[in-house]
Amino acid sequence: MPGDFREGPIVIVGASLAGLRAAEKLREEGFTGSLTVVGDEPHPPYERPPLSKQVSLGMSAADTTGLPMRRDPDADWRLGVRATGLGPVGRQVLLADGESLPYDRLLIATGTRARPWPQREQAALDGVFSLRTRDDSGCLAERLAAGPRRVLGIGAGFTGSEIASACRERGIEVTVAERGTAPLVGALGGTLAKLAAGLQWAHGVDLRCGVTVTALCGNGSGRFTGADLSDGSHIDADVCVIAMGAVRNVEWLEYYQGLIETAAPFPPAPGAADGHPLVTEFALPSDVPDSKGLSHGPTVALTGHLPDRRLTEVRSTG
Ligand SMILES: Cc1cc2nc3c(=O)[nH]c(=O)nc-3n(C[C@H](O)[C@H](O)[C@H](O)COP(=O)(O)OP(=O)(O)OC[C@H]3O[C@@H](n4cnc5c(N)ncnc54)[C@H](O)[C@@H]3O)c2cc1C
Repeated sequence: MPGDFREGPIVIVGASLAGLRAAEKLREEGFTGSLTVVGDEPHPPYERPPLSKQVSLGMSAADTTGLPMRRDPDADWRLGVRATGLGPVGRQVLLADGESLPYDRLLIATGTRARPWPQREQAALDGVFSLRTRDDSGCLAERLAAGPRRVLGIGAGFTGSEIASACRERGIEVTVAERGTAPLVGALGGTLAKLAAGLQWAHGVDLRCGVTVTALCGNGSGRFTGADLSDGSHIDADVCVIAMGAVRNVEWLEYYQGLIETAAPFPPAPGAADGHPLVTEFALPSDVPDSKGLSHGPTVALTGHLPDRRLTEVRSTG
């Protein structure tokens, strides 16, 4: 670790797996300065994998999946508060409660969230769930324990397939609607995906591939009752789990969002701001500040576990 960064404040935004492990590692590597970890969830870091497995099966409570600490990172934990942006000048993280945290180095570890159902009113129906957080899984587990007649899963990726599996193990009827040709085809390829489809059918999952859900339906009191599918069929169900993948939590970064999502080179090449795009497929928004005025770095962005996950280092231009 370069000596000039040994004392300067480091801020980590995102208090989950990456944020915690980074904080531990910094101390392990000898960082003795001020370290702050900001997280918008109210809970200390916890593991997400059990949420779709042991918790959905009713074998563990949602609040028992805390991540074990390998060492005390001796950090100032700012939990339950969202980072809303980076200060326009100087190196500062702006928080939703109005405070700003100065930093010498910033680690962006804000990960991903569940891709939302596009129709807000339909998504708000009682009985419609996403599965990303401890709170999501606690609510879903409660509903599964109540013994719904049928669960509808939208998407047969890992989360959708795990929910289907948990439902069958609990004796709950489950339909999974997948727009692709087979479950997990993107992650595992055609051969294994066929095997996964066979397993799901063999265990009584009503797996329907090559269809999309076109509408979630509710009764007069706002309770989810079923869904329409693109093949003209309708599924009656009491619970719906939206499992359509994840999107990165990068909106709060404004200017850096585009750089992270496109892995555009940073800092911009000299003259890039004079009409030469950084990379051909990335159009600079018109309100991007002149690169010479940027003073946010060095910043590292660890932008969540997606197939094209990337670590972007943003260096100060000054
Ligand atoms: C249900 C489920 C099951 C999974 N099962 C497996 C599995 O079996 N195997 C596996 O390898 N992986 C699994 N994963 C994926 C694994 O959990 C992720 O890879 C891991 O959580 C990534 O950690 P992260 O710290 O990078 O990001 P995240 O866990 O996404 O954490 C980012 C944190 O930042 C917070 N945040 C976002 N924006 C802000 C902001 N502006 N200000 C402050 N805080 C913010 C978020 O609320 C979140 O707490 C699963 C995920 C889920 C949801």
